Amino acid sequence: MPVKTVDEIVRNQQRWIGNFALFLMSVGALIFLGTTDHTIRNAYLNQLTTVAVLLSIGIITFLISRSRLTAHHKSHFLSVMLLSIPFASISMLPYASVTVWASCFLFLMIALIAYDRIMIWYAIVLIVATNVFIMVRSDTILVEIDPTDHYARLGMIGIAICIALIINHLHLRNLSRLQQLADQLHESARHDLQTQLLNVRGLEERFLHVDQKNLLLVGVHLENYHELARYFGEEIQQQVLIDCIERLKTLLPPYLTIVRVEGGTLMVVMEKPPGVSCEEEMTRLSQRMSAPYQVENHQIYVNLYIVIDDGEVDQLSMTKRIHQITSAFPESIRDSAKVMCLNQEWRKEQSLRVEAAKALSRADVNHDFYLVYQLQYDSNQDRFIGLEALMRWNTTIPGAERPTVFIPIAEKSDLIIRLGEWVFEEGCKTRKRLIGLVPEEFSLSVNVSPRQLTDESFMPFIERMLLKYSLKPKQIKIEITESQSLDFESQPILRALRRIKTLNFPVSLDDFGTGHASYHVLERLLPLRQLKVPKQFIEQVEESEKRQSILESIFQLSQSMHVECIVEGVETGEEVQIAKDIGIHLFQGYFFAKPVLLEEIICLLETKKAETTE
Ligand code: C2E
Ligand code: MG
Ligand code: MG
Repeated sequence: MPVKTVDEIVRNQQRWIGNFALFLMSVGALIFLGTTDHTIRNAYLNQLTTVAVLLSIGIITFLISRSRLTAHHKSHFLSVMLLSIPFASISMLPYASVTVWASCFLFLMIALIAYDRIMIWYAIVLIVATNVFIMVRSDTILVEIDPTDHYARLGMIGIAICIALIINHLHLRNLSRLQQLADQLHESARHDLQTQLLNVRGLEERFLHVDQKNLLLVGVHLENYHELARYFGEEIQQQVLIDCIERLKTLLPPYLTIVRVEGGTLMVVMEKPPGVSCEEEMTRLSQRMSAPYQVENHQIYVNLYIVIDDGEVDQLSMTKRIHQITSAFPESIRDSAKVMCLNQEWRKEQSLRVEAAKALSRADVNHDFYLVYQLQYDSNQDRFIGLEALMRWNTTIPGAERPTVFIPIAEKSDLIIRLGEWVFEEGCKTRKRLIGLVPEEFSLSVNVSPRQLTDESFMPFIERMLLKYSLKPKQIKIEITESQSLDFESQPILRALRRIKTLNFPVSLDDFGTGHASYHVLERLLPLRQLKVPKQFIEQVEESEKRQSILESIFQLSQSMHVECIVEGVETGEEVQIAKDIGIHLFQGYFFAKPVLLEEIICLLETKKAETTE
């Protein structure tokens, strides 16, 4: 329901007064016309004149209430008209006290209907004033007052008019202050209080009728914005944001609108610059925006991410576009993509995720998933030393069977807990099946999500599984991904890690180098068994010195910590050779074995075993 403005409320009240006065005066006139009471008929004004006066008051009040006068002027006129009612009714009743009391009662009723508290106060004041006046005027007043004493009545009505006008004026002033406040609220609801920039609501209103296709939306997100307040205080945090806005204004073309979405997230709306590659432009912008900010004595570095939406593809509303951009930030942070464009490919991936999320909510954990296994190879011993269980989803949605699609969705709900338990139990079953085929230290790696670690029931569950399948902890390796979502400061995670450590489970830190595990963290995870180097560091390593040196430093770190270093995703002989030259001898990748079903693994291990026994 739309909110009424104060002006509308007043006008509505005034219309009510007009209707009420017309109704009341018409009834009064009819009664007076039909009355046979001798006293009334012989009143000061003759019958027809009184009827005419009453009807006139009703009609004029009604017309004033409907007129085009301003609410302010109307109020004054209406007050005068209402206060003339007691005057007109004098002729009906010869007793002044009764006349005034009846008038006050009338006013009280009008006040209750129309002007609420202020008019009620007015009526009360009028009644009190009448009383006082009558008492002062005559000792015999309670019995009778001279009906011809018009001065007294006029004086009374005059006082009442003054009081009414004053109160009415105050009432209006109050209302206009309210109106002002309402206007201010309306403004501030559309602006950000700290930066005075428009907020999302204000933006929506401003661009309501503008063709979205011509608008380029650039989302700018300061990743460490909240930490700034913690480390430097709120004033400096705010100054960084203001400097950032200033930089945006100087670096981008004029005629743009900058909006603060929330915290350190800004949105720039501008016309599409013709013929320029947006991504290139934004990459340059990102570099210049990320340059350190000098605030007071501090040189502050910000992690800045930019997401662009050129609005080419869908006809989405401004709200939806902003929502898409802000929801893409976690992804760009995860992938360290400083500039990300919401292009066709991204949208396809998004709709795949939406489809997958819907289907996943209906999935049956025990029937709709299966595991594939990828062997791990030790080039020093020239044999397989373990294998990793990798989950697959039996789904009809093309592309959604990949864990990179469905695991992040499952991680957003408790589904990952049930899936994780299922994988762990299946892994235990598999490891048990391999007894006799592989040496005891041959480990089966199970990926564990951070969310599982925060679940209180996870540790008791894996302990139960070990007992159920008579396995030793060293036969199951727990792979924890060193992702942004793994918060090593979180108490439940620390508790789980301590328990894992006490039980002596080997732990592998998956995708090492992509998160932010410090040495301190690694120490907590000890006895950490393994650092797992992700594919991105070995991929085309022969062409990149930078990757070679990353590989070398991870290997050296593993050596100094006395933990294994395994490289995953090796696809070529050259990659293997370079890793070997560095000193790495543990591998997992298509070059040695692809992820396959358990039956294939068993076949292969049986063949290997037969070969070695021959
Ligand atoms: P991850 O644990 O780092 O697994 C390695 C991924 O690299 C696997 O992808 C594997 O198939 C792939 N890979 C291995 N060697 C090669 C290679 O030579 N070339 C290429 N191109 N890829 C290779 P996959 O199976 O798609 O798994 C992706 C990620 O999904 C895993 O990364 C892991 O983080 C997650 N995941 C898989 N299964 C599970 C699970 O049961 N639980 C949890 N929580 N996460 C899982
Ligand atoms: Mg893994
Ligand atoms: Mg990995």
